[in-house]
Amino acid sequence: MSDDNGIQRTLVLLKPDAVARGLTGRVLARFEDALLKVVAAKMVWMDAELARKHYFDLEERFGAEVYQSMADFMQSGPVFALVLEGVEAVPVVRKMVGSTYPDQAAPGTIRGDFAHVSKAYANANKLPVANLVHASGNPEEAAREIDVWFTKEEIFDFSSAAQRYAS
Ligand code: ADP
Repeated sequence: MSDDNGIQRTLVLLKPDAVARGLTGRVLARFEDALLKVVAAKMVWMDAELARKHYFDLEERFGAEVYQSMADFMQSGPVFALVLEGVEAVPVVRKMVGSTYPDQAAPGTIRGDFAHVSKAYANANKLPVANLVHASGNPEEAAREIDVWFTKEEIFDFSSAAQRYAS
C-alpha cells in the first residue's frame, strides 16, 4: 500500500539465518524502535513454489545456479514474515536493512551489523548470500509481495500507542 499521505506498507522477511541465529527479536526491535508498525506477522517454512513466487525474477537476473542456491537457502528453515507500515516505509526499511552484500553494508544497518560475507566469497564457494533480511525494493514490489505472503484478513488496521509520534 502507498496512500496519498505517504504512509506505505512493505514486506519484510527475516530469512532462515536470522531466525536460526535467534536474531528475530533484535531485528524486529530495530524496526519497532524506528516507530514502524507491525501490521502483519507469521512464521513460514517456505516450499519451492513459494520461493518461486517470491523470487519470480531472480533466476532471470542471476542465473539458475544462484537461483537454486537462494531457493534452497530460503527453504532451509522457517522465515519470519512481516508487513511494516509507516511514513515512506519502503525506502526507510531498505535503508535500515543495508546493501545486499553484507561486506558492503554500512555499520548501523542490519546486514552490516550482523553479517560480513561478500558476493565474491559466496559465489566462489557456491554459497547463498546469507544476508538476514529481505525487504521490498519499491512500492509496486511491496504490493505484489504482500499479496504473495498475506491475505487481507491477516493484515490489521489499528492505532498503535506510538502512532502520534510516528507520523
Ligand atoms: P536485495 O535482497 O538486497 O533486494 P536482490 O534482490 O538483488 O537483493 O537479490 C535477492 C537475494 O538474492 C539477495 O538478498 C541475496 O540473498 C541473494 N543473492 C543476490 N546476489 C547473489 C549472488 N551473486 N549469489 C548468491 N546469492 C545472491
